[in-house]
Amino acid sequence: MADSETSNSIRVIRKWLNRAEGAVTPQARQGREVVCDYCMRTINPREDITSYLSNKLVYDDNELSPDFPPFHFLKAYCEECTRVEILDDCQGYNEILLISKLNQKRCLTDFDILDYSSSSEGIPYDPIELWEVGHNTVTFDKFVKTLNSMQQHNVSLGPADIADEYRINNINPHSIFNENGKIDISNNRRKEIQDKISKDNSQI
Ligand SMILES: [Zn+2]
Repeated sequence: MADSETSNSIRVIRKWLNRAEGAVTPQARQGREVVCDYCMRTINPREDITSYLSNKLVYDDNELSPDFPPFHFLKAYCEECTRVEILDDCQGYNEILLISKLNQKRCLTDFDILDYSSSSEGIPYDPIELWEVGHNTVTFDKFVKTLNSMQQHNVSLGPADIADEYRINNINPHSIFNENGKIDISNNRRKEIQDKISKDNSQI
């Protein structure tokens, strides 16, 4: 996070965050409780909340801002599941990890940047290809369509949404792709992963 390009990006992000201060969480906007996307417990007002943001969605080819904000608020982590760094940063995506407070009105305040990964950093894995390793009975397109109709709004998914499904099941995504982002596992391992993932359909 030290080169001048990155510090410039951080400056732009901070400016954007000043405007986003007081933003309502995506869950609250839909009139729902704010729930930790990792352990599914309700996050109470006044708790610290960690948010994962990306400038691009995994199935959205119409990338609006390749380098700079606006960012999509994609995931919320409670105090127990909080992270201090982006674990599976994906090349091609600008990703941010933020810490903030959740106030009584379920708005996010007092932002601080915990980690930032520019689109040139990380491993060039394809999140959809990663998702498909764990799901052999349905295509990603079909999955997104089903999810959209179940939730009655369009879901937003970033690389961490895909990678976290593996982490929830105690599988390190880095054991699935190599440093060039290529899926690098045996058929037996693939089967083992699919068995684990299909037991847990509560998460994506
Ligand atoms: Zn949690």
